[in-house]
Amino acid sequence: MTTETLPHPELTDTNKPFWEGLKKGVLSYQHCKVCNHSWLPARSECPNCLEVDWKWTPATGRARLISWVVYHVAYHPAVAKKLPYNVAVVELDEGARLITNITGVQDMESLRIEQALVLSIEEEDGWSLPRFKVVS
Ligand SMILES: [Zn+2]
Repeated sequence: MTTETLPHPELTDTNKPFWEGLKKGVLSYQHCKVCNHSWLPARSECPNCLEVDWKWTPATGRARLISWVVYHVAYHPAVAKKLPYNVAVVELDEGARLITNITGVQDMESLRIEQALVLSIEEEDGWSLPRFKVVS
């Protein structure tokens, strides 16, 4: 790793299906068979009821914008060329939320709470990353 690349995710037995799915073009979330809760990021038990009876489920890719911040300062050299960029909380139609980026945004002031989004898996430094685009 150089200072020009971001740190890579740490692969574990729990999160490996998430990253392998993205390589194949599928965003998956975890779904609890006991209480029907859906979540990300990967963890070994349901954050709602603490049961371990869950399954990976493919997402439709449809989502909405919950919140975001816009960075105008690069706190890591790898993002210097991306300024300004956003870091957003997105909720999938299936209920799981994830922290991601909304890409292809010309004007950061145009972002809106509840804005409809669609998954856009993007390759970066050998990783397939789940990002989102605004539905126009
Ligand atoms: Zn549960």
